[in-house]
Amino acid sequence: MATVARFAPSPTGMLHVGGARTALYSWLHARQRNGRLVLRIEDTDRTRSTPEAIEAIFDALHWLGLDYEQPAVFQSERETRHREAINQLLAQGDAYYCYASEEEVEAMRERARALGNKPRYDGTWRPAPGKTLPEPPPNVAPVVRFANPQSGTVHFSDSIRGEVAIDNTELDDLVIARGDGTPTYNLCVVVDDLDAGVTDIIRGDDHVNNTPRQINIARALAGAEAELPRYAHVPMILGADGARLSKRHGAVDVLTFRRDGILPAALLNYLARLGWSYGDQELFSVDELVDKFTLETVQAKAAVFDPDKLAWVNQEHIKTADPAALTDELAWHLRVFGVTDVDQTRLAEIAAVQQKRARTMQDMARDSLYLFQPVAAYDDKAVRKHIRTGTAAVLADLRERLMALADWHADALGATVQAVAGDHEIGMGKVAQPLRIALTGTPVSPPIDQTLALLERETALTRLDDAVAAFADDSDETGNA
Ligand code: GLU
Repeated sequence: MATVARFAPSPTGMLHVGGARTALYSWLHARQRNGRLVLRIEDTDRTRSTPEAIEAIFDALHWLGLDYEQPAVFQSERETRHREAINQLLAQGDAYYCYASEEEVEAMRERARALGNKPRYDGTWRPAPGKTLPEPPPNVAPVVRFANPQSGTVHFSDSIRGEVAIDNTELDDLVIARGDGTPTYNLCVVVDDLDAGVTDIIRGDDHVNNTPRQINIARALAGAEAELPRYAHVPMILGADGARLSKRHGAVDVLTFRRDGILPAALLNYLARLGWSYGDQELFSVDELVDKFTLETVQAKAAVFDPDKLAWVNQEHIKTADPAALTDELAWHLRVFGVTDVDQTRLAEIAAVQQKRARTMQDMARDSLYLFQPVAAYDDKAVRKHIRTGTAAVLADLRERLMALADWHADALGATVQAVAGDHEIGMGKVAQPLRIALTGTPVSPPIDQTLALLERETALTRLDDAVAAFADDSDETGNA
């Protein structure tokens, strides 16, 4: 049977790392089997679902490159089908109306607790042969409960947790439709997975307690012989303090990582490794993950999120990427800084130079702004350190030679800077640092030949002119005269 995996987020907030990892595992599982991935937006909780959260899920998956079968399914649009399934269960005798009020159900739970049992609904309204049901109270809209089997054991084989067995006596009769007739999560999820032909349910282990109930509902709907989906419950992600990962641990929302300059491939690598390993390999391309990932090798214990390691993985990806693979993110970050319309070739050229030193894509964009924006001010500290009597003359000489240079290429440019240093009998740094300040306003930039080569000749010469004027021996050396 062809693999159909699904990712079923509830759009009640941003897509966080836990959700993204579940999506990634589902995507990898489907991809390596040439299967399909269904995205189902579980938006039935109208009060908590927001259009912004739906957009954020789409945006985050798109950014990560986790594609899915189009169009995405909106659970809220399937209500007719969910009601049909509830009616099927009612007609089969696998569900029944329950008129107990919230207070009564709470009292039942209390009684169970007092007897040292698990709090549960006591089955008052469950029909049974020979049983007389209470008279329905007037003006009460009943809920519908699933008549969970009362004996036997639900077995399922979880790819991550192994064999799981739950006695039906542990499970009470779940509400599948509220008093107003709206279907509940456990019903919707089963109907949607069955209808979509889902073969693999990979989801957070906060759902593991729902699984035996959902299997019972699925059996009731699809028949005892039907082949049901396989499960893999992915353990949660903790912060370094052992608490469930949340905002107070820093960035957890996927798109925040983008804003922080993380590459999608790096985040995917990091998330895949969070709770999964392949020998001691740390760095994986997406293709390698598709090749090597298996659910069976995901650890059953919770994983700890480590932002420093993510930063390291990110820098490694930046360093080793094909520059062309960095252009989308570079363009995105440049746009955030107000720089638009940079063509692909230029972006790749910049990335090729900057990738050796940028810690993040945000740094790469920021450190490349000098190429697009005039130098607004010279860094005071750098000026005090590197600009001396005579510096302006050195820069003026350099300017003349650069103007005359036949080729505007890193090699020729580097040689020219060296020649100026030699002729003035000063160290290379005494030319390169003032030059850097002239070109970028700061004392940090890529190797000086490349810093120059990335600039247009005209721009470089103009900036040198400005610096020569600003650093002239009789002027205020801060350039603010
Ligand atoms: N919508 C549920 C959630 O976001 C997931 C349901 C499922 O995967 O079965 O937690």
